[in-house]
Amino acid sequence: MKKFRAIAAAVLAVAPIVAVATPADAAAPATAQTWSTLMYRSLNPSELVKWRTMLPALRRTVVTSSATATQAARTQAAARTAVTAAAGANRVAKNRHAIATTKLTAARKADAKRKARAALKQRTTELTASAVALRTAQTRYRNATAKLSAASSAWRAATVAVRNAEQKVARAEYDAAAAGQARKISAQVVTDTRSRFTNDDATQVYGITVNKTIAYAFQHMIDDAARAGIPLSGGGFRTKQRQIELRTINGCPDIWTAPSSSCRVPTAIPGRSLHEIGLAVDMTSGGKSVARDTVAFKWLAAHAASYGFVNLPSEPWHWSITGN
Ligand SMILES: [Zn+2]
Repeated sequence: MKKFRAIAAAVLAVAPIVAVATPADAAAPATAQTWSTLMYRSLNPSELVKWRTMLPALRRTVVTSSATATQAARTQAAARTAVTAAAGANRVAKNRHAIATTKLTAARKADAKRKARAALKQRTTELTASAVALRTAQTRYRNATAKLSAASSAWRAATVAVRNAEQKVARAEYDAAAAGQARKISAQVVTDTRSRFTNDDATQVYGITVNKTIAYAFQHMIDDAARAGIPLSGGGFRTKQRQIELRTINGCPDIWTAPSSSCRVPTAIPGRSLHEIGLAVDMTSGGKSVARDTVAFKWLAAHAASYGFVNLPSEPWHWSITGN
């Protein structure tokens, strides 16, 4: 799995396939271009595109709101310290005021009374000032607490928004209608492609040579299968010459007329195989040809249609745009 991902990543780095709606080759038949466009649309439904587009901004909001909340927490902590200090100062002022009051009560002589009264006045001023300072500090603390609460809520909301968007992206249904339209023209795509196919119409996807028409959808399928824990690879395009060789290697009664099913390993008559135009892939998983009882086959059976691929029932490993 790890190795597969590494290989896949390396291939991607060296030869990124074109992530565009239509085949890169403008010479591709119109039907093939339409097929590509439909499959691209199918794999990128507007809902998915919308959420994917929104995600970066939503993620930035998480970062900024987190920073704001952190700053608000710091401000609140400082405000709490200030309240503690102001409360301490206020207690000291109260004590001093109480002492000054006691001294005034105890003063007997006029001179002592005058001094004690002046001292009390001073302590009263100090007490009033410390009470004002304490109230101010408490107000600041309350405001800081409210701001922290708001900032924390904003941060939580931003986090939830990102999670929602990620779930929407993960669950976005492919556009089955577009895939259905592509399926309807698949046979025509094969006919049109066969009449004018050249090797330039093929490209590499993770080392598998396929027609540019299916490259985007095919890569998408390999990537999604890998995400589901299923490493897929395979053999796609092969030349007509190789098809002729395979007819002999696979024990067909003859090269040009015997049906595919009459060979030891089913092998289409040269000129009829979709491999020769890069529109079929013999899938492998973990280095083995995909057999019917494997998780790879089960995954393909459940999902390949979403990427425009249909299985040839007599060959569990053979997937093409028509199932031929
Ligand atoms: Zn095949």
